[in-house]
Amino acid sequence: MTGNTTFTMIKPDAFEAGNTGLILNKIIENGFKIKALRLTYLRKDNAEAFYAVHKDRPFFNSLVEFMSSGPIVAAILEKENAVEDFRKLIGATNPADAADGTIRKLFAASIQYNAVHGSDSDENAMIEANFFFNQFDRH
Ligand code: ATP
Ligand code: MG
Repeated sequence: MTGNTTFTMIKPDAFEAGNTGLILNKIIENGFKIKALRLTYLRKDNAEAFYAVHKDRPFFNSLVEFMSSGPIVAAILEKENAVEDFRKLIGATNPADAADGTIRKLFAASIQYNAVHGSDSDENAMIEANFFFNQFDRH
């Protein structure tokens, strides 16, 4: 049994480029229901905590700088098989490898500036949703 909730962020590059509306529309068109939505910022310490799993990777500092460089839009999404279906919709981490029609193929500029985040497991979806929506409560 897979869960029906995932978490996404529209990253600072996509927000700055004015692509928030187009990306949200693409998400909705693909059958996801927006359960919570928030325009906010990550401070550096927030970004370090959110991406702590990557702390030993060579791109970590650059990733933290990027993710704290401007507004982000955080959202909780609901759909059957949400985590897997959303990862499919966003496409590969590197937009050069992302399939046609995926959000990263359409809106990402590079492996770092890749427009959106998508949770990679049901467990992380809950952790990440709670990171931005403290009082998250599913109705
Ligand atoms: P996300 O977790 O943001 O949904 P992902 O799961 O596809 O992306 P991860 O391996 O978790 O990819 O990497 C997290 C983020 O770190 C990537 O989305 C990207 O912004 C950045 N990143 C990953 N690999 C590289 C790299 N080789 N060089 C620069 N930045 C990278
Ligand atoms: Mg990831």
